[in-house]
Amino acid sequence: EGTPQTHEFKTEVRQVLNLIINSLYSNQEIFLRELISNASDAIDKVRFQSQTDPDILNGDSDFKIKIRPDGIARTLEISDNGIGMTHDEVMENIGTIAKSGTAGFLEMLEQAKSADVLTPELIGQFGVGFYSAFMVAEKITLVTRAAGATPDQAVRWESSGDGTFTVAPAHRDQRGTTITLALKKGDKDDPDYTDQWSIRRIVKQHSDFVAYPIVMDVEKEVPIPDNEQIKDKEGKPIGETTRRVVEEETLNAMKAIWTQPKDTVDDKTHEEFYKHLAHDWNPPLARLHLKFEGATEYDALLYIPSQAPFDLFQPERRHGIQLYCKRVFIMEDCKALMPEYLRFVKGVVDAPDLNLNVSREILQQDRLVINIRNNLVNKLLELLGKMTTEDYEKFYEQFGAVIKEGIYSDSNKRTKLAALARYKTTRSDGAWVGLDDYIKRMQPDQKAIYYITGDDMNALINSPHLEKLKEKSYEVLLMVDPVDEWVMQVLTEYDGKPFKSAEKGDLELEDAADETDKEAYNALFGFIKGQLAAKIKEVKASARLKDSVACLSGDNYDMSAYMEKLLKAAGQ
Ligand code: ADP
Ligand code: MG
Repeated sequence: EGTPQTHEFKTEVRQVLNLIINSLYSNQEIFLRELISNASDAIDKVRFQSQTDPDILNGDSDFKIKIRPDGIARTLEISDNGIGMTHDEVMENIGTIAKSGTAGFLEMLEQAKSADVLTPELIGQFGVGFYSAFMVAEKITLVTRAAGATPDQAVRWESSGDGTFTVAPAHRDQRGTTITLALKKGDKDDPDYTDQWSIRRIVKQHSDFVAYPIVMDVEKEVPIPDNEQIKDKEGKPIGETTRRVVEEETLNAMKAIWTQPKDTVDDKTHEEFYKHLAHDWNPPLARLHLKFEGATEYDALLYIPSQAPFDLFQPERRHGIQLYCKRVFIMEDCKALMPEYLRFVKGVVDAPDLNLNVSREILQQDRLVINIRNNLVNKLLELLGKMTTEDYEKFYEQFGAVIKEGIYSDSNKRTKLAALARYKTTRSDGAWVGLDDYIKRMQPDQKAIYYITGDDMNALINSPHLEKLKEKSYEVLLMVDPVDEWVMQVLTEYDGKPFKSAEKGDLELEDAADETDKEAYNALFGFIKGQLAAKIKEVKASARLKDSVACLSGDNYDMSAYMEKLLKAAGQ
């Protein structure tokens, strides 16, 4: 073993460390989930690489994660035979660069101006990662050997979480990583993390669906075989009939529930699986368990969360679909299988016929993948359409804005997605109205679907643009979501009815001001136009107004006032 070199944690990492240690105390047991999930990721990686490079396994393909508690030394060890890390990878992954989500995490805390927002739900979503082990450990030692490296090319990383860590050359007989926690004393109410029953419970609760065996040596009392027992003359045993042995026991169930027949998986199992998959503490709102047979064969198990994650609108946000091939994990975050506007869907797709030698980029163009995505989108939209009003409104409050992105971006599914959109209206008294219902409620002489966009619901309701429409009892959709602006650029009609902006162009109302009136006002209009020449295009008699004297409106093809504001805000 070589001489350790001391390094300093990067500031960001130190910030995260402090936060985790100080704010997560009541949930400290999730550290085990985080270390197990890292071990599982590492095994996924080596297993995936071995598909194209079988030598990398070097005969060691009995994948597992082993937990070794030591109640006397007060240590807990978690080891795996995953891909391991080289010296450079250790430097890069642990201590130096904070993991991908960290920047967003800190940013969010910065905005919230306090760590009080760190609820278990939020932490759950984030995956606090490796550093969470400092909640329970006063010192962490990590010894790792990368796949393909020699036993003497192993690396030892060590830290007490106090701002520095050391890295030294080390020796490890097998490929993989071992993490040893020197446990803190802890309060008397804290679980004893060296107690096998505590460990069993935590693994069951947080890591039951991990795809590899999580094992632990446990001492058991087993019967002594008859011929090994010491007996008296009559054949009665005079010594012990049982003895204690140490056996390796698997603690998790490892169920690939997506491959099981649909009706054999109960709600509780689904809920647990979802929580494992999504790092969410809330149960899912809805699920879709599909088995496609025929030309394209695959299993899919998809969930719609009941809560939107805080980073739903952050561009670097990961998608929630894991791709498997015959139960072998292929990749996380499989963007090719789900359009952006369904990025909140979590789940697993297992496609046996997939070509594994393709990169993420090529996957986007793979015919099989395109087929699967199309099927999944159709099924998901169907599921959303069939939800109860109560459930759907819950869904819409969380993800409505994202669904509307799809109306803009996916012209093939535009009508289906438009049917899923909901708006508050001038006549709905705060309730959501869909376009189908809007059309059912249209006045007999009404030809168009009217809408108005803006950023303030109250201002919209009281807009002078709506006076005449209100008088005629025409319902107007009140659009306050920034995405509505984009949607209305492409959504020109629904069910044969054109959309009309209440603030643009001619409203096509039957009783527009008649010609004689216009004549009478011409002199006045000419004067106004002269005064405001640089600011306006035209002065016209309006069919829009009832009580107000004048309002500003755009041409049919002009931007709406709100769009102009949005673009200005974006610096255009
Ligand atoms: P995340 O898992 O979200 O990337 P973590 O903080 O949990 O963040 O882990 C940071 C990184 O350290 C991982 O991305 C991985 O590269 C590396 N790492 C952690 N544990 C292991 C392990 N057991 N085997 C190999 N690499 C690991
Ligand atoms: Mg991790």
